[in-house]
This record gives sequence, structure tokens and C-alpha cells, in this order.
Amino acid sequence: MSEPKNLLGLDRSALQDYFASLGEKAFHARQVLQWVYQRGVTDFSKMTDLRLSLRQTLSECAVISLPEVSRAQHSEDGTRKWLFRLADGNSIETVFIPEEDRGTLCISSQAGCILTCSFCATARQGFSRNLSASEIIGQLLLADQLLKNDGFGSRPISNVVMMGMGEPLLNYDSVVSALRLMLDDLSFGLSRRRVTLSTAGVVPAMDRLAEDCPVSLAVSLHAVRDSVRDELVPLNRKYPIDVLLGACRRFLHKDSRRRITFEYVMLAGVNDSIDDAKMLVSLLQGIPSKVNLIPFNPVQGVKYACADAGVIDRFRNELISSGLTTITRKTRGADIAAACGQLAGDVHDRTHRSARLAGKAS
Ligand code: SAH
Repeated sequence: MSEPKNLLGLDRSALQDYFASLGEKAFHARQVLQWVYQRGVTDFSKMTDLRLSLRQTLSECAVISLPEVSRAQHSEDGTRKWLFRLADGNSIETVFIPEEDRGTLCISSQAGCILTCSFCATARQGFSRNLSASEIIGQLLLADQLLKNDGFGSRPISNVVMMGMGEPLLNYDSVVSALRLMLDDLSFGLSRRRVTLSTAGVVPAMDRLAEDCPVSLAVSLHAVRDSVRDELVPLNRKYPIDVLLGACRRFLHKDSRRRITFEYVMLAGVNDSIDDAKMLVSLLQGIPSKVNLIPFNPVQGVKYACADAGVIDRFRNELISSGLTTITRKTRGADIAAACGQLAGDVHDRTHRSARLAGKAS
């Protein structure tokens, strides 16, 4: 007999196709979506509005299989980080950031990352593989259940950011299936404004996303000159700043009410001058934007330092006085290495990058 099929991660249309392949009516997809994502029920025998024989068929041919929690850490500031173990032994990290008016879950899209951004901890882990849609949406489902069990109320997660390990747009199909489940009213029903995908700038996939599933977009810009960005985000050699900003303009063209969030990590002496701030203002002219300045979080073996608080304030004030909406992102969960760029998990590195870097460091 063939392996049972994991129905977790199938979006509404894929689930309808699955029921069609069993010779069943498409509306069962609606029922299963609600059981799994709204009520957290993963056992088909408990899905009482399905007829008994269908429950039995599903129990034989299918499963709803979630990653396993292998570690949970709580930060002093309320941030939580989980290490989720996948069936093949890789582990990934997921972070929950509670704030007064929202609860944000930061989700991983790959085990490791293929990009080699020079300031990021995930990059140093190398790359193992893309996550499946079930492993991506499974992070949300598991975190939702764990938080509810811990007394976080009936809807602990109001926002999702695809800002964990990996480059989501290099795992396009699985990420889009998972995004569709986040947005589907029969599943998590999050609004597009509350689901943000962050990219280092995979230009062709940005264009596809605008068509397929236009969630909110964040772009890891980090530098205003190609020479600097080539170093920080080597993907820039393929899609330089003007090409990337062109893709941002096209993304916004579809919906005039949108804005793009530009992430900008503040690195002492690298990208933090007032000249850089002025150039940023001129680059973003005409692009409805928000800027998130991210204080650099130290990563072992990485040569950069965070810009001084005073320098970050001056940089921010320069942007604000030129009319750019700018915030300095609060560092959350640093005591449990849950802050931006610190997520590392436990990746079976196929690139041998992690070993090479360790060799260099010793
Ligand atoms: N690959 C995607 C998704 C990762 S999002 C992207 O690049 O956008 C994680 C965010 O944290 C990115 O903006 C990334 O550049 C930033 N980041 C990485 N390392 C960091 C560090 N050490 N300190 C602060 N921010 C960092």
C-alpha cells in the first residue's frame, strides 16, 4: 500500500482535487479545512460532519502530520521560540512576538538558506532543502495550538511574517500554498495586510507573487549603493538596486493603497551615514514605502557591529524629516537568540558552507 498522503498544506483547490481523486464531492475540502485549521482537529475519526465511511477512508489513506516540538524557549520580554523537528531530522525555528495590540508569528520557509548574506546567522548554517507547504503552515498551526494551550486566548496569532529562516521566494510554490491557507476564511482567515513576506529581492518571483497572492511585501534593502549591497546581500549582483526597485514599483502598481516595507539593518560604518540616509530618501522617491531600521543583532563569527543608538536616531530623523515613515524595529527575544537574523535551527547542510566557515573561524 502506498504511504498515507499528508493533507496538511494542501490549499483549498488542492484539497478539492484530492477529494475528486477519491471520487468524492469537493465540499468535503471545506469541512476538512475548518476541522484542521480552525478547530485544530487532526484525527479524521473526530471529524463528525463527514460520513462514517469517508472518515474511515481518510484514516486509511491520509494523515494530518505536524512537525514535532523539540524545544521551546521563553524570552524575558515574552517572545517565544520553538525548534520544530521535521520528519527527515532537520530542525527549523519559529518565533512568536507578543505585543499589546497584536501577536506576530515569524515563520521559516527553508531549512537553512541558499543566500549568503554576510551578516545573517541563517546564512552561516548553509542550506538543506526547501520546506514543504505542510511544514510551513504546520508552524502556524502548531504555534497556534501551543499558545492557546498556554492561555493566550482564542486568537493568539494576528499577524504572520515570512521572516524566519530561508528565502521564501526561492521556495515559491510551497510558500504560496501556505500563504493561501493563511488567508483562506475557512482556514486562518488572516487579512492580506497582516501577512507579510520578506525577500532579499528575487525579482521574477516578486512579479509572480503580485499576480498569484499579493500579500504585504517587505524587502531587505540594507544598502543604497550596489557596491555595498553586493557585499551584504550577494543576490544583488543578479538583481541590483535599480532592478529591485523597479520590481517594487510593479508590485505596487496592482494596488494603490499598498506600501512596501524596506528593511535596513544598521551596521556601524557600513551603511549608516547621513549620506546613506539622503540617498535612501531619493531612491524611494515615488514608491509608497515604510522603512524599518533594524539594529544589527550580533552573530558569532560575523565581523559587523551595530550602529550606535545615536547614529540610528539621526538616520531615522533624516528619513522622517524627508517624509518617509520610519521606525526603528525593537529588538525582541535577543536573550534566546530569537531576534532578526539569529535563527539557525539545526540544518543538515548540503552546501558544506557551515563547515567551511567553522574552519575559517578556528
Ligand atoms: N530571506 C528573506 C527572509 C528573511 S527575513 C529576506 O532576506 O528578507 C530576516 C530579516 O532579518 C531580513 O531583513 C534580514 O536581512 C534581517 N537580518 C538578518 N541578519 C540580521 C542580523 N544579524 N541583525 C538584524 N537583522 C538581520
